[in-house]
Amino acid sequence: MKLEIIPDEFTKAASVLQEIQAHGFEAYFVGGSVRDALLNKPIHDVDIATSAYPEEIKQIFHRTIDVGIDHGTVLVLVGEEQYEITTFRTESTYQDFRRPDTVTFVRSLKEDLKRRDFTINALAMDVDGKIIDLFDGILDLEQKIIRAVGNPKERFHEDALRMMRGLRFASQLDFTIETNTLSAIEEFHPLLGKISVERIAVEFIKLLLGKNRRAALLPFIETECYQYCPGLKKHGEALFNFSDLSNRPIDAENQAWTLLIHTIGLKETDIRNFLKTWKQSNQMIQEVQLLIFGLNKRLSGDWQVMDLFNLGLDAVLSIENLLYYYDQKSKIEEVKERYLRLPIHNRKQLAITGNDLLDYFDEKPGKWLGDMIEILEIAVVNGQITNNKELLIAYAKNIIDKE
Ligand code: ATP
Ligand code: MG
Repeated sequence: MKLEIIPDEFTKAASVLQEIQAHGFEAYFVGGSVRDALLNKPIHDVDIATSAYPEEIKQIFHRTIDVGIDHGTVLVLVGEEQYEITTFRTESTYQDFRRPDTVTFVRSLKEDLKRRDFTINALAMDVDGKIIDLFDGILDLEQKIIRAVGNPKERFHEDALRMMRGLRFASQLDFTIETNTLSAIEEFHPLLGKISVERIAVEFIKLLLGKNRRAALLPFIETECYQYCPGLKKHGEALFNFSDLSNRPIDAENQAWTLLIHTIGLKETDIRNFLKTWKQSNQMIQEVQLLIFGLNKRLSGDWQVMDLFNLGLDAVLSIENLLYYYDQKSKIEEVKERYLRLPIHNRKQLAITGNDLLDYFDEKPGKWLGDMIEILEIAVVNGQITNNKELLIAYAKNIIDKE
């Protein structure tokens, strides 16, 4: 089979393949980019596989960076572009279910394609767009099937992460996992316990954000893979409920965690721990905590003016977006307008500072100062007083005089 219309990303890289060939080696496009081109999906990175050894690649190209030379990968810089060029390789004896003990460079494309995870990922394409399909990957693409290359049990035994990858491709591509591949996941799911949380998390997040989340969540639960994911062990039932939510794709990672955690019903104080065990960043943890706090507010009534101010527009709109999964109507436009009409949008816009108050009242800094700023801020946000320095001082004076 030949790809008739070759996407620009490949045409741009054609000279790299030709250059390698001119030196007497083979070179092909491989992996996700070939799969996505055949599916008419946008292409991310164009990966290249070659029979040339890393040292040989470095002699062919002037500008190279050793990014993973032990695994055979050299980054080649051509103009503005950069390409990962990986030597054909086999991987042998996976003692620990996750990393090959030895990577052996080989000159055969077939050997290289054989070690890849799924048939749809084991396609190669030459510079003219001819597809090399040794494992019926095209048929599986047409039939929307995720099938391990070779014996699925062996493949998952070699590298247990592949089970999570299979599930995430099912979600991202809206494909079904082939029966033998699925039973191998069922049998070998405990091996996920050997895989680092970071690597599992990458795949799990892609699964959550995919086009058909449910198509992956159901096998994820039924094969019990979730038992070997952080913080989910006791939540099989809740995960079913999660898979039962509207299957509309989730817009962003923080929204995905929010929906998941909210459905599981974690206490607000447990959110941090849960996301920590998933090795998420503090930034992500804060965003999710804010979204869950806001979501609970919004589910119990309309926004108060101070909620809009405290949460900020991004969080408020994300929460409006999430209402869809709770069969509630969102009021995106109305909320945007209400937000824009707030007299101020952050504390910096308050017409008075702590220093102004210290000067005026000739007092030492202390708790009273923060409290006062907060009182003034609330009064301004609620429209009880105009954001004007003199008026704010007078307002503050009034409060202090009463005390
Ligand atoms: P994406 O579009 O998400 O990048 P991808 O298929 O390109 O999907 P990558 O993780 O970038 O996925 O890997 C590139 C290729 O390397 C895959 O298409 C597959 O052929 C191979 N591969 C990646 N991880 C594994 C693995 N754990 N086991 C076997 N082959 C793998
Ligand atoms: Mg990729």
